[in-house]
Amino acid sequence: MKVIRGNLKGKKGIPRNGLCLGVHRAGIIERRLAKKLNRPLTIWSLRPDNEFLAYDKADFQDRGLSATDNLDEIDDALIFGVRGAPPQVREEAAKRGLEIVADATCPYVVEQEEAAVKFLELGLNLVMLSDPNHHGIPRIRGIAEKLGRPLFIVPTVAEIEDINLTRNEPIGVIVQTTFWIESYKEIIGALLDRFADVHIRNTACIDSLQRLPVVVELARATDAIVIVGWTEGMTTRMVETAKSCTDKVFEIKHPDDLDPAWFRGAQSVGVIGANETPEWMVEETVNRLEALA
Ligand code: SF4
Repeated sequence: MKVIRGNLKGKKGIPRNGLCLGVHRAGIIERRLAKKLNRPLTIWSLRPDNEFLAYDKADFQDRGLSATDNLDEIDDALIFGVRGAPPQVREEAAKRGLEIVADATCPYVVEQEEAAVKFLELGLNLVMLSDPNHHGIPRIRGIAEKLGRPLFIVPTVAEIEDINLTRNEPIGVIVQTTFWIESYKEIIGALLDRFADVHIRNTACIDSLQRLPVVVELARATDAIVIVGWTEGMTTRMVETAKSCTDKVFEIKHPDDLDPAWFRGAQSVGVIGANETPEWMVEETVNRLEALA
């Protein structure tokens, strides 16, 4: 069995370690600050359970870094993590007098928030193309609530029916940073059918635009594909995207999850990591599959 690794090397906006730009950048900020300030630092995170999985978790803990989504657990200083924070959390942190030593929010998340604010300030009704369970929803919902406006979440064409607006009421459409471009083309087409005044801002991040086409290529070129990841944003999109090409899609969180029975009869298998999957985990998965060959 031939094992082919998804080739992300040289893709614009994807660091050499295969992580996404936002996660890679946040890790650098957090480690540098821990070293410079030489004191324990807490990261406020929308997903504290996932915060350090892209790195060596023990190493981060040794550097005095920890993560929480509860401001009550933070005594004096914090860093906002890569996934950002709803405006209400930022305001509460300021009210409590907590020192914000850094904001490691991904620049694409910031861009998405700015697009949402701009649409809302223009008086448009905000529509977000996204899985309703995505960790980024509380941020955008918080922004809409702060400006006293509703937020319509549209994961598929079917949910367009639930938008209780008339044809001529204006809508501003943003997309989840990790959203498969082909599925939102279909949803946007349906929105244009239903509404007369549609404003669109493509807020998908560079990682989605670069990594998902590699998933398609790999899924088409192999008999089965293994996706190593756990994030409900990018990993879910990668699985969804691969399934649009083949039935043989296997999602694992660790090389130990591999089951040799999945690959019986396969001549080739593709392997690719998600945006928070460390390099060693992808390599180990490739090695174990090669050992089966
Ligand atoms: S997946 Fe995209 S939006 Fe999310 S942290 Fe990475 S670069 Fe930023």
